[in-house]
Amino acid sequence: MDCKEWRDKIPAYADGELPAAAGQALEAHLRACSTCASAALAALTMKRAVRQAGRRHVARAALRSRVEQQVTGRGPSRVRTWLPSLAAAAVIIVVILFGVQRWVPEGRRQTLTELADLHVAALASSVPVDVVSSDRHTVKPWFAGRIPFTFDLPELQGTALQLVGGRVTYMQQEPGAHLLFQIRQHRVSVFIFRDLGGVSRGPEWAGGYGKHSAFNFETWNAGGLRCFVMGDAAPGDVRQLSDLLRAAAR
Ligand SMILES: [Zn+2]
Repeated sequence: MDCKEWRDKIPAYADGELPAAAGQALEAHLRACSTCASAALAALTMKRAVRQAGRRHVARAALRSRVEQQVTGRGPSRVRTWLPSLAAAAVIIVVILFGVQRWVPEGRRQTLTELADLHVAALASSVPVDVVSSDRHTVKPWFAGRIPFTFDLPELQGTALQLVGGRVTYMQQEPGAHLLFQIRQHRVSVFIFRDLGGVSRGPEWAGGYGKHSAFNFETWNAGGLRCFVMGDAAPGDVRQLSDLLRAAAR
């Protein structure tokens, strides 16, 4: 396959709609081809920016009623002059209604989607981590002073798991740790944030596991921290890494 064919797959990949095997083939190409990797990164960054902008610019009810008033407040004798503005207002209202519905934060789903984007962006990046080390005694202290909390990493000797490294990441303006692990041919992200209620809204966040787009995930909170493990590794591997992280935090 040439680069153009790979790049045609990037939009579906960014939306998490590429089948797992095709996604892995594309990731392998992205690791080897910096041109396609930067195209993928641009697509993911754009997608994230659009979603965040959409969330910030939610029209208030006051604006909507002002638009409606403007449309209905004029007399019938001026039908022909206000008809075009009615049409324009209808378009605005449709955009507001559907736009808001589409971009409204959906709590858990939205958070998982943002984390999936961060995971995919790291895989597509030529520099996926800022501290590159398989040694937890190197990675953990690197975060000191960069994030407002500390965390513990497990001993991985005797497991199929390997620490790749870490970087600082952000979720709703809150800094956190993004760690990358290797499990056989799969890369798995671990995200750790302070559990301030912003990242994890509501009781449905108490803990859980499942599948989001192409990725298996597990999440829990402990000691005031919210952790997520996410990747295309088997659910059993995601569980094993989660168990090790939970045990290390005790
Ligand atoms: Zn390429």
